[in-house]
Amino acid sequence: MKPFSAIIAVTILLLAGTNGWCAIRVVSTIPDFSDLAAQVGGKRVSVTALVRPTQDPHFLDAKPSFLLSLHQADILLYTGMELEEGWLPPLLQGSRNRAIQRGGAGNVDCSRFIEPMDVRAPDRAMGDIHPGGNPHYWTDPRNGLRIATGIRDTLCRLDGAHCDEYHRNAAAFEKKLNAKMKEWKADLKPVAGKRVYVYHESWVYFLDFAELVQAGAIEPRPGVPPPPSHAASLIARAREEHIHLILQESWYPISTSRLIAQKAKVRLAVLPTMVGAAGTENYIQLIDAIVREVIK
Ligand SMILES: [Zn+2]
Repeated sequence: MKPFSAIIAVTILLLAGTNGWCAIRVVSTIPDFSDLAAQVGGKRVSVTALVRPTQDPHFLDAKPSFLLSLHQADILLYTGMELEEGWLPPLLQGSRNRAIQRGGAGNVDCSRFIEPMDVRAPDRAMGDIHPGGNPHYWTDPRNGLRIATGIRDTLCRLDGAHCDEYHRNAAAFEKKLNAKMKEWKADLKPVAGKRVYVYHESWVYFLDFAELVQAGAIEPRPGVPPPPSHAASLIARAREEHIHLILQESWYPISTSRLIAQKAKVRLAVLPTMVGAAGTENYIQLIDAIVREVIK
C-alpha cells in the first residue's frame, strides 16, 4: 500500500506542477482555436474542441459530454458572428459556468480579433445563415495570427503570473507562421487573380489571402441548396468567365459541384477547413493542405 500511495502522491505533485489541476481549461467550438490555444498556452493549458474537424460547424448535435467540458472550462473560444447560434446558447446556459457566459472573463468571441467580411443587410427569410457577416475567417493565416495574439492576451489577463511564457510561445508561433505565409504567398503567386466558384461562402477570407476571386457560389445564399436553374447558369458562365476551380467542404452534397465541374471542365477540390481533417495535426499544416490543394 505504502509505495502505491507514494506513487499517487508524486503523480499528484507532478500533475499539479505541470498539466493537471493547475492547467487552464480551454474549450473551443472549432478545433482550430484549440490548436492555437495549445500553441500559445503550451503546458499551461488543456484544450478540448466540441466540433469534429469534418463536421459542419453550423449545425451540431449536442452531446452530454459537452456540458461537462463547458462546466469545467476556464475559457470558451468560439467563432461568433452567429456561426454557432443554432447550438451553443443552450449548451452555455446548461453549463452553469458563470466564467464563460457572455460578459464573463472566460467568454472569448474570436471574431472580435479579426476584420469581418461580407457584412451586409441580412435576409434570414431567404434562409441566409450568415446574417452578421461571414464567420469563416480562420482559414486566412493572417487571421490565425490575430486570433493567437488575442488568445495570448486572454491568457495573460487570466493568468498574469505566466504572461511572459505566453508572450514567448506566441512570438515563436508568429515567427513560424510568418515564414510559412511567405512560402504560401510565393506558391500562390502563379494562380493570383484566377476566378473560382465555391459551394458555401466559407472561403472569402482565404481567397483574399490567396488573391483569388470568388466568381460565384453554388448555394444561391449561405445555407440555401442550389435549384437546378442556378447550377445551369453557373455552368453557362463558367466557360465565359474562365473559372479555375470549385472549392467545397466535405459535408456539403457533392452532386451539383460535380455536375458543374464536369460540364464546365473545371477542377473540383474538396478541402479540409478545420485542424484534424485530411490528416492535419495543427493550424499550419491545415493552411498548408489548403494551399497545396488549390495550387495543384
Ligand atoms: Zn457558413
